[in-house]
Amino acid sequence: MFTHSRDILLTPIEYLKGVGPLKGDLLRKELNIHTFGDMLSHYPFRYMDRSSFTKIKDIPEEGATVQLIGKITYSEVTGNGKGRRLVATFKDGSGGMDLVWFQGIVGIERMIERGGHFLVYGKASRFNGFWNITHPEVDAIENSELDSFPSFQPVYSSTEKLKAKWLSGRLYVKLVQQLFNSIQAKDVVDMLPLKIINAFHLCSRYEAIRQIHFPESEQQLQQAIYRLKFEELFLHQINICKLKLNHQYVKGFVFEKVGEVFNTFYKHHLPFELTNDQKKVLKEIRQNTQTGSQMNRLLQGDVGSGKTIVALLCMLLAIDNGFQACLMAPTEILASQHYVSIKALLCEMNIEIGFLSGKTKAKERKIILESLQKGDLKILIGTHALIEDKVIFNNLGLSIIDEQHRFGVAQRAKLWQKNTLPPHILVMTATPIPRTLAMTSYGDLDVSIIKELPPGRKPITTVHRSEIYRAKVMDFIKHEIALGRQIYIVYPLIEESEKLDYENLYAGYEQVKQFFPDHTYHIAMVHGKQTQDEREHNMRSFINGQAHILVATTVIEVGVNVPNASVMVIESAERFGLSQMHQLRGRVGRGADKSYCILLTGSKLSQIGKERMHTMVTETSGFAISEKDLALRGPGELDGVRQSGAADLKIADIIKDVALMATTRQVAIEILQQDPYLDRAEYIPLKTWLTSRKQQEIWSRIS
Ligand code: ADP
Ligand code: MG
Repeated sequence: MFTHSRDILLTPIEYLKGVGPLKGDLLRKELNIHTFGDMLSHYPFRYMDRSSFTKIKDIPEEGATVQLIGKITYSEVTGNGKGRRLVATFKDGSGGMDLVWFQGIVGIERMIERGGHFLVYGKASRFNGFWNITHPEVDAIENSELDSFPSFQPVYSSTEKLKAKWLSGRLYVKLVQQLFNSIQAKDVVDMLPLKIINAFHLCSRYEAIRQIHFPESEQQLQQAIYRLKFEELFLHQINICKLKLNHQYVKGFVFEKVGEVFNTFYKHHLPFELTNDQKKVLKEIRQNTQTGSQMNRLLQGDVGSGKTIVALLCMLLAIDNGFQACLMAPTEILASQHYVSIKALLCEMNIEIGFLSGKTKAKERKIILESLQKGDLKILIGTHALIEDKVIFNNLGLSIIDEQHRFGVAQRAKLWQKNTLPPHILVMTATPIPRTLAMTSYGDLDVSIIKELPPGRKPITTVHRSEIYRAKVMDFIKHEIALGRQIYIVYPLIEESEKLDYENLYAGYEQVKQFFPDHTYHIAMVHGKQTQDEREHNMRSFINGQAHILVATTVIEVGVNVPNASVMVIESAERFGLSQMHQLRGRVGRGADKSYCILLTGSKLSQIGKERMHTMVTETSGFAISEKDLALRGPGELDGVRQSGAADLKIADIIKDVALMATTRQVAIEILQQDPYLDRAEYIPLKTWLTSRKQQEIWSRIS
């Protein structure tokens, strides 16, 4: 068993024959391989067919990936500093070529010194009529091996440092072989229950691992991959489903009745008829809060779909049942916008509402906190300030979190401790999550969805313009401003190249100023590097209509409501994610005016770039857009997913293997329904695996 101290797979890697302390240290640091077991799960990323080689004279074309066998006849190091490189002459009887290295020179030199035959693998390019390969993979071949190359030779990811120090790919392969000589089939515990292995015709775990490292045939390799994908997705799903299931046993408050507060508001003060989706969601929440277990629900609804009113009605429901409610938003501006609009909606009702943020003055804060603790204050709206320990509720029954992705899980957890039982939690997000991902990222939450927009919305016209039309776009903006409208101009901001991005932003700001001179136009700028005060001040000047143009990074992405803004210009649109652009677009079209979203890009766009712009221009549904985003970019880029850890899958692919994901989810659910705590004997290996430390680490990141 894995947790057993004599589990051979837990043996530190340095004890493997041929490794030792020094190499062990390298393996730990460079490849995160600590134990025998870790080495087994460091899978090859491709295989070489070592039985077929190309002759140098037959290299088909520039850029071809080739595998050659031959001898290195000469080598020298030339150049200095950054130009320093190792050039080796490689010959295979049919011709010669250069092999070139800029890094790891010492290690390579040492390897080629020993002479003999070498295997060379890499991308051929042509220079001055002569073939060469830069940074090829090179392995020394024993003479005894020359006649018997396997058709599948594993290739493992490695690092320059490993190569330089001692560990050529070839040597690593030998270590893995050594490892297989040191263990037996019974050492590799199969955590999948036998009935599942049988039902899905899976090979054993040992067999899968052996075949993925040293496949005997293409068919066996595919079987191994299938088994390992199945296992990975199954474990992922069983964890998520367990979370969700265990959740059903978390006791929560019962909201028994719909009372006077709710009914009065609903009958007399609701400014519009609810959409069917809004009604449906309310019903789901109503049912959920009656069961006696705690609600943990995600409310997904496109930008402008009317989540706020649903939130408010839920809070009234809490009040009717003798509880307090709070609503938390990620920024001061958003929180205060919620406060203002909810206060306005409730102005004719006798309900005490408070606002709390980091900026609330001490005196006011004191009053609020006292009233909150006494229970007079029924609704508290604010920022992170709400979760501070000093904020003590009399009887908190419902916490609503707007724009989920800015709140960490830890912060959510803090809310749980604000009452004797954890309050019901409703998380609202406008980032639509593709169906396929919802299974993974939010598998532990119940989900409610608002798909339809309130009636009477004017569609936003979206156009894509390349850089050469900039002047025209600016003219159009002038025209809109003359009509009394306001304009957003947004620049991309991607963490890795922050500095560059700010340069872009400032350059953009200067450029905008040339089109819109100071004496006629007021331009405000907001970005994340400003102090909060500065940012708020500038943002306010736009909200209250003083500034005509707001130049910004994506800090304005979430929730901000300025109904008079009619144009959203997205600069370098090719650098934004589709869902992000959709969010930005949702900042306009909030008033009575016809609104526009203009996507500005360079004139040379890749095929995918064009497709993405086309999607934005033609699609209006956030859900459709997020599906497309997922297909074009992969899951790693989408917010919720990065957090969920689903993108950490090692062998399965969240998009390509979605069918298998659904299958394993079904299997997981069936197992847990029959045996929620996995107590049956057949699940012992599975349970042990799930509770082993390593798994815990991974899952604590995810849930
Ligand atoms: P979001 O879901 O993006 O938070 P909001 O709750 O801010 O959306 O709602 C957007 C706008 O739509 C608000 O001005 C709100 O008053 C209005 N609204 C919400 N529900 C309806 C409805 N059923 N009919 C008409 N207008 C609505
Ligand atoms: Mg909102």
